[in-house]
Amino acid sequence: MAATIWYEKDADLSVLEGKKVAILGYGSQGHAHALNLRDSGVDVVVGLRPTSKSVEFAKEQGLEVKSVPEAVAEADIVMILLPDQYQAAVYKKDVEPNLKPGAALAFAHGFNIHYGYIKPTEDHPVFMVAPKGPGHIVRREYAAGRGVPVVVAVEQDPRGDGWAITLAYAKALGALRAGAIKTTFTEETETDLFGEQDVLMGGINHLCDLGFDVLTEAGYQPEIAYFEVFHELKMLVDLANEGGLNKARWSCSDTAQYGDYTSTVITDETKKRMQYQLKRIQDGSFAKEFMDDQAAGAPKFKKLQEEFSHPHLETVGPKLRAMFSWNNGPAKDQDEAESFNGKIARTQVQ
Ligand code: NAD
Ligand code: MG
Repeated sequence: MAATIWYEKDADLSVLEGKKVAILGYGSQGHAHALNLRDSGVDVVVGLRPTSKSVEFAKEQGLEVKSVPEAVAEADIVMILLPDQYQAAVYKKDVEPNLKPGAALAFAHGFNIHYGYIKPTEDHPVFMVAPKGPGHIVRREYAAGRGVPVVVAVEQDPRGDGWAITLAYAKALGALRAGAIKTTFTEETETDLFGEQDVLMGGINHLCDLGFDVLTEAGYQPEIAYFEVFHELKMLVDLANEGGLNKARWSCSDTAQYGDYTSTVITDETKKRMQYQLKRIQDGSFAKEFMDDQAAGAPKFKKLQEEFSHPHLETVGPKLRAMFSWNNGPAKDQDEAESFNGKIARTQVQ
């Protein structure tokens, strides 16, 4: 079944006229949504904790900033862009009691609605506009006259205007310049978690570090191992992004291709493990494990962060990355700069 994809012509921005949109949170996604919507002519208020460092950043950008309860109280649409694990508590305490009758609730990831941590009453439209890229790219592309694609979904539609609001929001975000793919909260949530756990992070990250171990344990120099199992990944990913796996393969030698086709590393057992992980996502046990731990102050998460904070690859990583002159100056990418160093104001991205 072909996906439904919407573009600029499919949405009407006037649906948002006279409506106030509260953006809760001013992080990666929050700043991009608030600024893009504002620049598209939408009436935006940012809801933040009064103690948040982002209050000043948002104000410097000319945005109206209020406390979360105040922002919610005047909003017709409330977009919740807080970290997933804190959304339910903020919803109970600050959102639900202040929500106008019939106000729409919006998300950029389906986690809390899909797993039932947030249960809005039936009179509220519930929709999702989830960018397929980090917030800083969502802002950068908008400013350049382009857009980052989104996936969109409507979970509750009490008045029948759910899709019109969703697509208008996506248009104001700049996303319809690229396209919005129709999905559901279930599909977005489950596939997003699967991608993270099984391929993009849980797959690749472990594969690289394991490859490094195998080479160094076999007596090869760690510097050489780093280049072979890690550094070159970026070039292949860039090629694959441009032209798919075929282009990535085409650009490699016949020897490399033959090794790829005949490799026995990924086995039927790997597929079974992926299916097992998927089952834990589908039956909610992964979400429960994560959220229970977060509710207890995240002891397991913090222990894991510590345990994984010294990848074997990193014994030589800093030294080798410094050999590339373009790695030395200020971070090339705002996301990298900010999430890694935590120093550069998110709002400097234009
Ligand atoms: P983030 O961590 O960058 O920002 C979160 C913001 O919430 C910060 O401004 C923080 O100060 C604020 N905040 C935290 N706790 C708060 C509280 N208790 N009360 C009020 N404000 C609070 O988060 P993010 O990456 O922008 O993620 C937001 C949502 O967007 C999540 O649902 C995430 O899954 C989704 N999403 C993120 C990306 C991405 O690439 N970052 C992509 C698509 C969707
Ligand atoms: Mg994700």
